[in-house]
Amino acid sequence: MRRTARSWQTEAALRMLRNNLDPEVAERPAELVVYGGTGKAARDWPSYHAIERCLTTLADDETLLVQSGRPVGVLTTHEWAPRVLLANSNLVGDWANWPEFRRLEALGLTMYGQMTAGSWIYIGTQGILQGTYETFAAVARKRFGGTLAGTLTLTAGLGGMGGAQPLAVTMNGGAALIVECDPDRARRRLRGGYLDELAPELDTAIERVRAAKVAREAVSVGVIGNAAEVLPALLRRDVEADIVTDQTSAHDPLAYLPIGVAVEDWHDYAEAEPDEFTDRARDSMAHHVDAMLGYLDRGAEVFDYGNSLRGEAKLGGCERAFDYPGFVPAYIRPMFCEGKGPFRWVALSADPADIAVTDRAALELFGEDESLARWIRLAGERVPFQGLPARICWLGYGQRHVAGLRFNELVASGELKAPIVIGRDHLDAGSVASPYRETEGMADGSDAIADWPLLNALVNTASGASWVSIHHGGGVGMGRSVHAGQVCVADGTALAARKLDRVLRNDPATGVLRHADAGYSRAVEVAGEHGLRLPMREQ
Ligand code: NAD
Repeated sequence: MRRTARSWQTEAALRMLRNNLDPEVAERPAELVVYGGTGKAARDWPSYHAIERCLTTLADDETLLVQSGRPVGVLTTHEWAPRVLLANSNLVGDWANWPEFRRLEALGLTMYGQMTAGSWIYIGTQGILQGTYETFAAVARKRFGGTLAGTLTLTAGLGGMGGAQPLAVTMNGGAALIVECDPDRARRRLRGGYLDELAPELDTAIERVRAAKVAREAVSVGVIGNAAEVLPALLRRDVEADIVTDQTSAHDPLAYLPIGVAVEDWHDYAEAEPDEFTDRARDSMAHHVDAMLGYLDRGAEVFDYGNSLRGEAKLGGCERAFDYPGFVPAYIRPMFCEGKGPFRWVALSADPADIAVTDRAALELFGEDESLARWIRLAGERVPFQGLPARICWLGYGQRHVAGLRFNELVASGELKAPIVIGRDHLDAGSVASPYRETEGMADGSDAIADWPLLNALVNTASGASWVSIHHGGGVGMGRSVHAGQVCVADGTALAARKLDRVLRNDPATGVLRHADAGYSRAVEVAGEHGLRLPMREQ
């Protein structure tokens, strides 16, 4: 594939934008929708084409500004500055709600950027697969002796992110039953190898997973239905689930199918009557969560998987919705204290052999970490690539820059055929404020303080990232999160090495600092081990 932009820094942005909309990657590419309800890569097609034109001609001392998916300017900066700066879906506090957002969106003034849709570093279902694998591994360690063998996980949603759940459970040795209302979505996961079986109806599904649990078989079974109806039915029928969670698009009430609405009528109805639809969706979510609470009362491990289901169900009248925890305080925060989060990279050559080379390099560097090594090996065998070949693994402060510099060397030496793009999810240690998810239940009560992601974006801009983004509302919806992203490009040059060294230290460092400031002793320890300065603890 020949380079069409003037440098690899801008070619990378161009290829990643296109990759976000690759039909193998995006949920609805014709509408520019990448994942997560309506998370888009560009505001509209004229904006998309204008971004392509700008990236193709952008010089090494120029920076493109993107406002909610629309290119609005090209300014002269310098070679250490990001080539693209993006701000997506941001609204002033009192206006930050879905109705106002939809009104502005209908006027063509904004778009929903989710986390990695509008910031051009989505890599398909593998991204969430790794996070989901880590989460279920943590559940296994906490409750089931380190493996999910002999357990049944009950969940819903087989969309862009939720589609990772069945494979993440089976990679941890467990059985899973997943409810999905849209047959097309379920079939897509079956074809892609993420889901093992699709049951023709509920009775067959129940029989199959009950048998699998007894036999300690790792198998995932999908069933078509509305989670708000199926979960209460499973509870009534005493189906013994050990772990219960959910990944329907509950963060956006218009993306959650209410009881009694046919899939075919969904989008027309939501568009025509958004208020009525929202009320019905929230009412259904209250039923859905009531059933999850029923499982909690029976002793199951129940957690919210970061989709705002509890918040919406509470608005729908479910008073006890927050009786079960979010997954971050339950399982992920100890990793955030070490600056650990979803580090990912993409081979711009489009050649899977390049990812195999980086997999080997990652194993050489971090192979002593057992769960990481297991993941890299299993991912190599079982994870199909979507679009450009990519890999993800959770790395912390002190590890990410080592990986980045190694990849840059492999590009320079020609062992890799083309540069590597290195980025991460916005769901990371220091880059997000989201009181229902990443910052739920912070030790010092600072859940809603949104200065941290903004500082993170400024730090990455100051450190030499190739593109930096500030978003609002990703994951959990309008009014509920502020988050930032960075991507850098290992193009094999000495300049790239210097930038990678700074960005891949400073970006996770903000996670360590954020958690140390909140009083987490592990974060203070990590800062001490690595010589990260904490001014308020200095004499
Ligand atoms: P998506 O829109 O691609 O998929 C959602 C799926 O839910 C769709 O297939 C839809 O048909 C199904 N669905 C909707 N209502 C249903 C109902 N009543 N019963 C059964 N199925 C129903 O969204 P996604 O990208 O898969 O994300 C799912 C949710 O997870 C979003 O809210 C997203 O913000 C959240 N999320 C969480 C994390 C995390 O780290 N835990 C990460 C990313 C996204």
